[in-house]
Amino acid sequence: MKAILSPLLVACSLLLLTQCHPLKEQHTTTPPIQQVKPRNVILLIGDGMGLSQITAGLYSNHNRLQIERFKQIGFHKSYSSDDLVTDSAAGATAFSCGKKTYNGAIGVDPDTIPCKTLLEEAEDHGLATGLVATSTIVHATPASFIAHNPYRRNYEAIAGDFPGSGIDYFVGGGLKFFQNREKDDRNICEELRKEGYLIQDYFTNDINLIQPDPKRPFGFLTANEDPLTAENGRDYLLPAAQAGLTFLKQRSSKGFFMMIEGSQIDWGGHANNSQYIITEMLDFDKVIGDALDFAQANPGTLVILTADHETGGYSIIEGSRMDSLVTAFTTKGHSASLIPVFAFGPGAEQFQGIYENTAIYDKIMALMGW
Ligand SMILES: [Zn+2]
Repeated sequence: MKAILSPLLVACSLLLLTQCHPLKEQHTTTPPIQQVKPRNVILLIGDGMGLSQITAGLYSNHNRLQIERFKQIGFHKSYSSDDLVTDSAAGATAFSCGKKTYNGAIGVDPDTIPCKTLLEEAEDHGLATGLVATSTIVHATPASFIAHNPYRRNYEAIAGDFPGSGIDYFVGGGLKFFQNREKDDRNICEELRKEGYLIQDYFTNDINLIQPDPKRPFGFLTANEDPLTAENGRDYLLPAAQAGLTFLKQRSSKGFFMMIEGSQIDWGGHANNSQYIITEMLDFDKVIGDALDFAQANPGTLVILTADHETGGYSIIEGSRMDSLVTAFTTKGHSASLIPVFAFGPGAEQFQGIYENTAIYDKIMALMGW
């Protein structure tokens, strides 16, 4: 470094330091790095997970988080097409389709025209696909990868988009939107079984005991409505993620795309409940560690961790100690702050910098050659 820089610095001083950029100069002489195409993509979304949420999780966990294993870090601009403060539907559609759309939109553009999602691209290219969430599986974030609907609360219609989607593995709450529906007599669980799925539910099964057979597509509905909080005993996120990664790895020889959401970090923010945020953050951090372990054991796996937006205008204020945080909130809703993006694996360096939330889609598409 010194040997290269010092002649340049001499040249700089000769030019009276005008328009001399030794680092830039050096960069242009570096041969381009051969980009390796990822085989698997794991997209981890902490709903409502801003920097303060990560910070609170970190200090509450003896100053350690699995997130610290990431080395490539950037920020995205989370605003939607109609509001500087996005919601989870527009936020997730920006990732899934690469389009800024209006708050409430599920996999549709500002004119309510359906847009092709990363999950659909993955299906079309022969990859296995998966969605795991700690909300209902038809909630805004997972829904935006598999469904197309002008309005996020049309949960039954969103569930109706699962048959025919080709999704290989899904785990989340919301059984009541699949069977015994209010608006029609469709039984989506039966429709999926006719397509060959093994559909399990919390009435009769325990996710911890399930080893899904990769020869059959698999769905597990973990609650009739919203799953419990981690604090109240919800314990499926890590086993569902682990089982899912093993399953998807075997499911297709071409690789997989999987989205895993820590959904309730957001709900802790809406409730202005710091302890809720922290327990959900730490539950999600275990999955982050597991995804990184998987990526280290399976080279060719790209892991991207981000959030759709921050929730609560959460901050850690004066009087805090590492083992007892003093916190404050500025809103019961979301905020507009920049959102961190962490990446690991082939192409991870592409996620450095500051860019639009839609660029996460663009970067994944480019790396995959889609
Ligand atoms: Zn929210």
